[in-house]
Amino acid sequence: MRLVLVGPPGAGKGTQAQFIAEHVDVPKISTGDIFRANVSQGTPLGVLAKQFMDRGDLVPDDITIDMVRDRLQQPDARAGFLLDGFPRTVPQAQVLDDLLRETSYSKLDVVLELVVDDDEVIRRLSGRRTCRTCNRIWHVDFDPPQKDGICDVDGGDLYQRDDDQAETIANRLEVYAESTAPLVAYYASRGVLIGIDATGPVDDVTQRAIDALRPMQPNLAR
Ligand code: ADP
Ligand code: AMP
Repeated sequence: MRLVLVGPPGAGKGTQAQFIAEHVDVPKISTGDIFRANVSQGTPLGVLAKQFMDRGDLVPDDITIDMVRDRLQQPDARAGFLLDGFPRTVPQAQVLDDLLRETSYSKLDVVLELVVDDDEVIRRLSGRRTCRTCNRIWHVDFDPPQKDGICDVDGGDLYQRDDDQAETIANRLEVYAESTAPLVAYYASRGVLIGIDATGPVDDVTQRAIDALRPMQPNLAR
């Protein structure tokens, strides 16, 4: 299956991507994670991307598209993938369509839109913590680790993302409304969009997403 998750920052894309990718058995490809790995390794791509990420702006399309093209050409992504955080602009979506057509004569199966309002997004982003080693996402109130600041999965350090400060969050929401929200209409017009209520407990949201995918892959476990 070839899946995309869209939704505002903080909607729970990364959180759900972890679980949905496992259920569907495809690799999770998160452009935010790939950029952050490049930033922490100090690669030329990371140095370039950091200036945009720190402000809560999008990294320019050409840079992002080259990075995703390379990733999608790796063997594990040939048969399917779940994209978290890409596409984020209509030009990115158009290139993704072209890329799939050229490389595998295929198209996206489903775009899941995680629907949640701005107040909830702000609560989620303000308390988000991420594991430095495995990228597992936590929340200080809604999904706290057993030990403060330590990831339950691998004992890694939890950190607060630089772009989860109040001013940057406000800019990211504006950028979402202006540049990314138009994707909802783009994918609806292609008949692949499914809206998912992303409020309530994480497991409930995962279940709604899996239920929505079951018509395409009937053997999906509950
Ligand atoms: P995104 O990838 O869309 O930016 P994340 O998956 O990183 O969003 O989630 C943002 C924050 O919200 C994280 O701290 C996460 O633990 C928390 N979160 C995710 N889903 C839920 C949920 N259903 N209820 C409460 N908090 C959630
Ligand atoms: P995320 O982890 O998805 O919240 O992404 C963090 C940041 O990485 C974003 O605010 C952007 O600066 C950058 N980024 C991630 N994905 C993209 C994308 N598809 N296009 C442009 N910038 C991106």
